[in-house]
Amino acid sequence: MTSEIENCGNFEERVRKLVEAGYETVAREAIACTRCPLHKSAIRRVIGKGSCNPKVFFIGEAPGKTENETGIPFYGKAGKKLDKMVEYMGLSEEDWMVTNTVKCHPPENRKPRVNEIGCCKPFLIAQITLLDPKIIILLGNTAEKSYCPEKKLEWGIPEEYEGRTILKLYHPAALIYTASKIETQRAFIDKNRNLWT
Ligand code: URA
Repeated sequence: MTSEIENCGNFEERVRKLVEAGYETVAREAIACTRCPLHKSAIRRVIGKGSCNPKVFFIGEAPGKTENETGIPFYGKAGKKLDKMVEYMGLSEEDWMVTNTVKCHPPENRKPRVNEIGCCKPFLIAQITLLDPKIIILLGNTAEKSYCPEKKLEWGIPEEYEGRTILKLYHPAALIYTASKIETQRAFIDKNRNLWT
């Protein structure tokens, strides 16, 4: 029997082919993907939302229930918080894009597993390579584990990684439950606008 990991194929080879094929193919292949078990709980694949020439590229965790129904990332409550954060950052529609570590909704809203994140990562890396953002904002720990698993980022401390600035901030869902984090995140934004302007 083929293991889930084997199903994921050769990482570099997949990224290379996706980047060569272009963004529409990345989206088409992600929509057709059955490499990991998450496709079984997906109604819609959630590829990304935003500009095709973003300065800022946000990575969330995984599509939730509403995202699964609409195919649009950060469509639900957490999405409203992200919209407020983006507005506070002073970003216009052309400035940003958001996606998740995986393009399919995990059952029972659980966190995506390591092999699922690994299987989906070529889509994420191809998106980043093709869209070429100035800064990648990792919304929480799952995004960090997916994008730079070998690093341990400090919240709010930007680093250089593979030719770009990366930065870990709170996931918008955390802002729903802990209002004090909104103030902390806003104070950070006030002092660090130079990172994305
Ligand atoms: N949370 C996420 O991490 N991503 C979404 O798309 C929605 C909620």
